[in-house]
Amino acid sequence: EEDPIKFIKATEVEQGLLSSISEVNTTSERLADDRKSLPIYQYKEKLLEVVKDNQVLIIVGETGSGKTTQIPQYLLEARYTRRGKIACTQPRRVAAMSIAARVARQMGVKLGHEVGYSIRFEDRTSDRTVLKYMTDGMLLRELQSEPDLASYSVVMVDEAHERSVSTDILFGLVKDIAMARPDLKLLISSATSDTEKFSEYFDSANIFTIPGRRYHVDIHYTETQVADYLAAAVDTALQIHVKLQPGDGDILVFLPGQDDIENAEEMLRLKTRGLGTKIPELIICPIYANLPTELQAKIFIPTPQGARKVVLATNIAETSLTINGIKYIIDPGYCKTKTYQPRTGMETLKVTPVSKASATQRAGRSGRTGPGECYRLYTRDIYNSMDENVEPEIKRTNLANVVLTLKSLGIEDIKNFDFMDPPPGETLTKALELLIALGALDEPGKLTKVGRRMAEFPLDPMLSKMIVASDEYKCSSELISIAAILSLGNSVFYRPKDKRKDAATARERFYMGNVGDHIALLNVYNSWKETDFSTQWCYENYIQVRSMKQARKVREQLEGLLKMAEIEVTSNANDLDIRMAIVSGCFRHTARLQKGGSYQTVESCRTVYIHPSSVLAQAPPRWVVYHELVETSREYMRQVTELKPEWLEKVAPHYYKLEDTEDCSSKKMPRAVGRACLN
Ligand code: ADP
Ligand code: MG
Repeated sequence: EEDPIKFIKATEVEQGLLSSISEVNTTSERLADDRKSLPIYQYKEKLLEVVKDNQVLIIVGETGSGKTTQIPQYLLEARYTRRGKIACTQPRRVAAMSIAARVARQMGVKLGHEVGYSIRFEDRTSDRTVLKYMTDGMLLRELQSEPDLASYSVVMVDEAHERSVSTDILFGLVKDIAMARPDLKLLISSATSDTEKFSEYFDSANIFTIPGRRYHVDIHYTETQVADYLAAAVDTALQIHVKLQPGDGDILVFLPGQDDIENAEEMLRLKTRGLGTKIPELIICPIYANLPTELQAKIFIPTPQGARKVVLATNIAETSLTINGIKYIIDPGYCKTKTYQPRTGMETLKVTPVSKASATQRAGRSGRTGPGECYRLYTRDIYNSMDENVEPEIKRTNLANVVLTLKSLGIEDIKNFDFMDPPPGETLTKALELLIALGALDEPGKLTKVGRRMAEFPLDPMLSKMIVASDEYKCSSELISIAAILSLGNSVFYRPKDKRKDAATARERFYMGNVGDHIALLNVYNSWKETDFSTQWCYENYIQVRSMKQARKVREQLEGLLKMAEIEVTSNANDLDIRMAIVSGCFRHTARLQKGGSYQTVESCRTVYIHPSSVLAQAPPRWVVYHELVETSREYMRQVTELKPEWLEKVAPHYYKLEDTEDCSSKKMPRAVGRACLN
């Protein structure tokens, strides 16, 4: 544990406000000192004054200055919570969790009591929660049950510069709410840049700037282009590490994703082991979105004397989380970026070069407490060719879910919604088309009963539709298990490199009937449940125990939501019924076998393949539906299930006519309808 058990007196303000603290935990004096040493502390009174005088305020301050952890506490101390809770939104789940934990410790309260967090499928708040850290997506969902945010006195939309889709949508909604509720304070906080744009959008709101403290950071470029950024990052980290000086700082390496981080970790372990005791101890700390909560805190543990820490992080360490003690930055210059092609409906996550703004932020993660060094694993020319900023997410993502949320909030005219940056028209059209096809919207674009029920689930609309449809086929219990696993986004099958064969054999035991991956996933869940959720069973069957535990949690949440959506909990082992429910949700993702083993999608006539990891890869059926398309060496369908074309007409008669289904060019598409409701 980071903090020794030690009791201190709560400050007077805290005592006054937090009268019912039952478990004052380990807040140390050091934490109180930390609070005062943050750049924002000097501006506390001034800030409170400005907040008092401005209903809407843009706050700009360098990363690490204390915006996220301190401002909500200042407002609490200034008693804003008398009228309601303080919400602070984050685009990233890990940031919401980690920051809430930090603030709870600073206030000496138990996480989930006065300070809590709420992220999709996990709510750690209680009746007494007054500071609520949450993902921007969760606040959007809360608007469905509380359109005026009546239980909040302050909304702080944090990390506004990230411009996540949910943040962008929140902007438009909270702007309206603030107009209707003069008692609501609205703070928009951002690390840098674009503040004029924020101010302009919020009707010339005032900007409050927290001056940062900064030491010089030496930036190094490579002389020539690096062939393998991962190997180069690992080597650079080791080069720095072997020259450890007393009092030297830690290393932060930015990598695009979990896979690279895991590989780098392995490479570093091998290489340091090879060097034995010739080098000082190197403590390797990964941090990424799917890292289990228990391990996330490790990055903040201060490095012992004589050792060095190397943090391997995704973009999460760029502005959302600040790790103290970093002196060296290694920046390969890549991140994962989502792109969306409305024409094909394909959303991909690709490793792409970062923007100049990102590179600057990354370098700035050193030099906070002393001079820093930044090693860019690219040339100066490459830097000069980088884009200034990344495009906001709303320009490059599928909006079906967002449109359904807006419709369920009663926003009819989506095209004229007050977007800070409007999404591409084609993306909106596609989203409306999909929702009409799923029956969530009627043809003029009004939310239907089905749509209202779908909107209860924080899932992709196709998954929500499967669950709603499962009511009819009396298999809601099965469908929430399947949806829970699919919503994880990562495989539940464990495939260690050295045991590929054993793992494949184990996997085949779940293939019963070979009708598809959805049913196989259901078999995994049900078999695990029969063992009373045994961890040992997962090990024996090459199943990822962590993913399954997460799926179980998600499933529990979905079960609770069934009631809200007026769906009975029913169980039915007939796989035909289950497949009908599945097809009711993803009938637009139908593909037909071609000569040579490829498939052609019905919707856009693309050539695609069954993913090699699929149950159906060895025996491709004539017709399939798929959960998603992923692009690697080819376009692959992932999570594939066999269907009979007759089913299409049964579940989506408005969309398919039987005589059409054999010919992909003459399918019935409600395209014109989708466009019509935009006007
Ligand atoms: P900002 O939002 O302005 O970027 P924060 O409020 O997130 O700043 O961070 C302020 C300080 O709190 C930083 O120095 C950071 O290192 C520290 N901090 C935040 N979370 C933790 C944690 N879990 N453990 C230790 N220090 C933390
Ligand atoms: Mg912050």
